[in-house]
Amino acid sequence: MLKGTWNYPSHIEAGSNSLDSCVEHCMALGIRRPMVVCDPGLKDFDFIETLVQSLKGSELDACLFSQIQANPNGDNVSAGIAQVKQNRCDGVIGIGGGSSLDAAKAIALAAFQSRELWDFEDVGNNWKRVQEDKVLPCIAIPTTAGTGSEVGRASVITNQERQVKTIIFHPLMLPKVVILDPLLSVGLPPKLTAATGMDALSHSLEALCSPSYHPMAEAIALEGIRMVADYLPRAFSNGQDIDARMQMLVASSMGATAFQKGLGAMHALAHSLGALHNAHHGMLNAILMPYVLVANKSQIQEKMARLARQLDLSDQSFDGVLTWILELRKSLSIPHALSEIGIDGTDAERIAQMSVNDPSAGGNPILFSAEQYQQLYMNAVNGELIP
Ligand SMILES: [Zn+2]
Repeated sequence: MLKGTWNYPSHIEAGSNSLDSCVEHCMALGIRRPMVVCDPGLKDFDFIETLVQSLKGSELDACLFSQIQANPNGDNVSAGIAQVKQNRCDGVIGIGGGSSLDAAKAIALAAFQSRELWDFEDVGNNWKRVQEDKVLPCIAIPTTAGTGSEVGRASVITNQERQVKTIIFHPLMLPKVVILDPLLSVGLPPKLTAATGMDALSHSLEALCSPSYHPMAEAIALEGIRMVADYLPRAFSNGQDIDARMQMLVASSMGATAFQKGLGAMHALAHSLGALHNAHHGMLNAILMPYVLVANKSQIQEKMARLARQLDLSDQSFDGVLTWILELRKSLSIPHALSEIGIDGTDAERIAQMSVNDPSAGGNPILFSAEQYQQLYMNAVNGELIP
């Protein structure tokens, strides 16, 4: 059985039933009145009830807040903050997918600040506005293996007024404790297992390809990709495969650790498309992946050869990696073209402009122009894998 306790990049408890350690971690962090944050879909799962009862049974005055929607917005965070204040909570436990974890981290950051949440948008030195002694400790417990929000120092919260997804950042948003319990992700259906797992892959892949100098992140990315290659097909075909679930949770945390190095055009396009279309972030990255690799080919051949060796592919070149990704996508029933999920490209100019301006675009090996993004997007709409 796979089990581990690590202190990098945060304190991580990995293994079946590691959820049981939540009480002792609350105690160690000085949390006596935790608020558990999840989404309404998760609220009735047994493990939420078990968690809340185990906290209460240990004389922690726990409460549950389950009003987090997918792509959480400012209202969700405000409602959570109101409950924190009402119950005089002194810590936050986020459990669920990336949305719940992002919301939990934002609530913990902003609950007792004198400024409003948007003042901490990840622009310039805004993060220095945070009164650090008022940030609540946060414990993160992911139930999906994809975003890696549990090891991230930022949250994406939608600002409804401005109609934009806003990145809120502060180093203290990195959860103090991360619990990776594979038993919590066994219920995830195959389609979501595939989409979230491909998001984890896209994080490691884009981090690897990003040209900045960061060998540590590259090493994590390479091994993260190897783990996705070995375990995502297993988790997809048998959701009860505990080892595969465990390895995918770790691969997801690794992807998000690696992408401090940078993301790239997959995420620039996926963020833009996600803002205008009702499509899963991981699914968008999965579909876009080969088109972006082909567009970047001239700059990433050496890295793809290195990746091919890590994956022990028979063709140890760019083409070997491309073939592997196309076969992996197929085996996970992921569509080849954006048109297959109802995206027809009529908004190509707007998407291209949004992608150029997306913060992830700066990490791509080639700084694509709006025209290049438009071409890349249309190739993905039409399923044309050409440079
Ligand atoms: Zn992503």
